[in-house]
Amino acid sequence: MAATTRIAATSVVPRSRAVTSWQLWQAPRRALAVIVVTEFAALIGLAVAAPSATWRGHHFVQWAVLAGLSVVYSELSARVERMRRFLNSAGHISMTSVWAFAAVLTVPPLYSASLICFLFGYNAWQRRKVQVIRPHRVLFNTSTAIVAALTAGWVTTSVHSHLMFLGYGPATAVATIAALVVYFLTNITLVTAVIYFSVGSVALKELLPDREQFGLEFGTLVLGIFTAETLLQSAWLSPAVLVLMLLLQRSSLVSQLEVAATTDAKTGLLNATAWQELAQRQLLHAQRDDAPCAVLLLDLDHFKQVNDTVGHLAGDAALKALADALRKELRGYDAVARFGGEEFVMFLNNLDASNARQVAERTLARVRELVIYGRDGAALPVRLTASIGMSTYPEHGCDLTELLESADAALYTAKDSGRDQVREPDYGTPSRPAIVERSS
Ligand code: GH3
Ligand code: MG
Ligand code: MG
Repeated sequence: MAATTRIAATSVVPRSRAVTSWQLWQAPRRALAVIVVTEFAALIGLAVAAPSATWRGHHFVQWAVLAGLSVVYSELSARVERMRRFLNSAGHISMTSVWAFAAVLTVPPLYSASLICFLFGYNAWQRRKVQVIRPHRVLFNTSTAIVAALTAGWVTTSVHSHLMFLGYGPATAVATIAALVVYFLTNITLVTAVIYFSVGSVALKELLPDREQFGLEFGTLVLGIFTAETLLQSAWLSPAVLVLMLLLQRSSLVSQLEVAATTDAKTGLLNATAWQELAQRQLLHAQRDDAPCAVLLLDLDHFKQVNDTVGHLAGDAALKALADALRKELRGYDAVARFGGEEFVMFLNNLDASNARQVAERTLARVRELVIYGRDGAALPVRLTASIGMSTYPEHGCDLTELLESADAALYTAKDSGRDQVREPDYGTPSRPAIVERSS
């Protein structure tokens, strides 16, 4: 399934093809165990499926149609696929599961397993010129898809036979849905387990697909059902599925581009440009409704020293941890962004000065409590504090630039007064130069 290509947690690219030099051998033991068990399970599944395989002409034809369509699709979509992969290398979802799942629903297990080998092999061969192919990943992804396909195939057959008393149609519908759920869950569980055990200190929630990825994965499986039905009922219509797939792929590219254009890659928060657009809109609403709102500008204290002490990568981990803490502290409709470097900015809707100050104080408390973990999962000897400059509408400014300037002036006061505190401007309209250009 789609999720199988999400195993992209490591960054060093080995050039050697020798098995002994595979990056795989450096994987943590538990990740290695999941990989070996998955590959072993795929082999056992093949061994069990092989003796009962029947050699029928129409199955060969269906196999060949699916393989042919997958090749045509791969060729037609290669350029867009490369862009999608580039935009989201860590969470890239391929569309291979359309063909794999269609095979689960149409041809016997051994055929679907061999089609999966063909699909992943062909994909790797096609990408070999633009990407370093890691054979162990291809092997694991193929094995995961085989395990998912064989399990889903077994589930659909047994559910179908047990529910035949409902009639052929309802039994087929329930069996197909059961197969979809099992295929999805098997895949996601295996892939997530490997990444979870490989990466170490990361919340499981972060590894699961977000709503967008979930929708795309679900969409590919539904297209798989459509492809299977077309193949079984009106095979001549099956190329039509290519059009739907290309549309799905393009719409996914558009949403990936949207995310890339508005997100800060290091923290996953909004970037400065997107924040300003959103804050501008929210301020207009506040002005229209005569509601109070606030801008908080947060700058980490002595962050250069943090980098000097524990290194730049740990500094990045600290920025990410801070971003997660800010997300937790704020409400869904508050806008929070990384403004640049180690500066963050928040727009708080519908909060007067005293409530906004409480939010700011709580935020500082969260920053003090942050624990930063190294790549080995051990806590680092770092204690963070931050300073916040706060401005409120309408007291400190009537437009976003004024509010930002006021918050910036207050931030400087907080720094000058010893850091680790919230300050508001102690004057009306500020006269500092505008800071809205400062985004990175
Ligand atoms: P203070 O704000 O308390 O005056 O001191 P500071 O040390 O934080 O000073 P300043 O804001 O001038 O420096 C910001 C430092 O943040 C400099 C740079 O090393 C670090 N920094 C900026 N962006 C990043 C980043 O993306 N990752 C990491 N690790 N460090 C960054
Ligand atoms: Mg700083
Ligand atoms: Mg700074």
